[in-house]
Amino acid sequence: MAEYVCTACRKVIELELATAKKIQCPFCGYRILEKRRAPVVKRVEAE
Ligand SMILES: [Zn+2]
Repeated sequence: MAEYVCTACRKVIELELATAKKIQCPFCGYRILEKRRAPVVKRVEAE
């Protein structure tokens, strides 16, 4: 799964990578989505 954000309505859409060629916002029908990067969580544990 990959997360995309609709550039029109800013909703987050989860899509399978296999369907990424037919990418379209299910809410507003807009076809330009930007891939959402998962926030990098780095945990440095002090010892
Ligand atoms: Zn949309």
